[in-house]
Amino acid sequence: MTEKPNLTPGAEPALADGGPDEASLERALEAVRTALEQPLPNADVPMMVLLVDDQAIVAEAVRRALSAEREIDFHYCAHPEQAVRMAGEVRPTVILQDLVMPGTDGLTLVRAYRANDATRDVPIIVLSTKEEPAIKSAAFAAGANDYLVKLPDSIELIARIKYHSRSYVNMLQRDEAYRALRRSQQELLKANLELRRLTHSDGLTGLSNRRYLDEFLGAEWRRAQRESTEMSLLMIDVDYFKPYNDTYGHVAGDNVLRSVATTIRREVKQPRDLVARFGGEEFAVVLPGAGSVFARMLAEKMRRDVAALQLPHVGSKVSEHLTISVGVATLTPTVGIAETALIEEADAALYRAKREGRNRVEFSTGVSGRN
Ligand code: GH3
Ligand code: MG
Ligand code: MG
Repeated sequence: MTEKPNLTPGAEPALADGGPDEASLERALEAVRTALEQPLPNADVPMMVLLVDDQAIVAEAVRRALSAEREIDFHYCAHPEQAVRMAGEVRPTVILQDLVMPGTDGLTLVRAYRANDATRDVPIIVLSTKEEPAIKSAAFAAGANDYLVKLPDSIELIARIKYHSRSYVNMLQRDEAYRALRRSQQELLKANLELRRLTHSDGLTGLSNRRYLDEFLGAEWRRAQRESTEMSLLMIDVDYFKPYNDTYGHVAGDNVLRSVATTIRREVKQPRDLVARFGGEEFAVVLPGAGSVFARMLAEKMRRDVAALQLPHVGSKVSEHLTISVGVATLTPTVGIAETALIEEADAALYRAKREGRNRVEFSTGVSGRN
């Protein structure tokens, strides 16, 4: 007389459950922390002025005006055809652009800076000899940020250079901080998904674990109640597994559990179905919408597949090889009956399979003939 299989996971030895991957969560949190600790935009950033003007005398005047400003670096370009390339190399925080240059129109250059990735957002101050609203308007329309009449007063010129440079650098820093934040958000999302997967899976076999089985079974049971559809449950237990461990050791026992898990999972083709490790050497298969004919057939296939593995088991009294027993229950849930009824009936069928010799499939007769 065999003992009734113990279906209480707490009574089983500790499972080799991987548990949540705290390291990956910690990595993601660290990335978020780093992003949040980005320095705030700094007001004292080095500024880089690029003057594009064909007149050397203007360049000399601007250079002199800026000479006392230590944090302002000055570059000069006299040839319009080199301006865009030079701006790309120098990486100015502000461009002073002459409006009238030989062979080109300053506004054409303004558009060219805007069309270039390296200079797309660099502030541009147009320098013109004319104080004329229509020209100013055209300059702003072309993409200029500011307009000064040559030669501007040096105090005003410096104030504008500083203002535009700072707002440009602030923008760059904000963009970088934002990108870092986005990266860490994505990492956090990935870590969460991984954590979810890990908290739902059994560390030894990779099947769903008991926790997820309970959630899943409850949800599917309620759905079957609403939709008045039947559902089936297979309870699977390895035969004479204790003697297996005693003979071959726990490591070999673990490997056998993995083989059984892989074998029974292979038979489950519907994405809606769930294969879980119930605990110890017991597995459960939930088949929402499946009737008893299909459930029995599947259980029989699984039993045959495991036997066909021909895993030697000298301690078994039923076969030379490792075998499983399966209890099958099918119910159409009615209001007021909990999903534990399905587990109890499959469990009772499994108990019968054990009692009647093991290596076999037994079906629930149904406590009240509901299946
Ligand atoms: P029966 O044919 O009646 O099912 O007998 P049994 O020996 O398979 O059943 P029993 O419940 O007496 O023994 C189950 C054994 O499964 C005992 C336990 O040490 C072993 N076991 C439970 N979980 C694990 C595990 O994760 N790894 C290994 N190697 N063994 C486990
Ligand atoms: Mg057992
Ligand atoms: Mg067993």
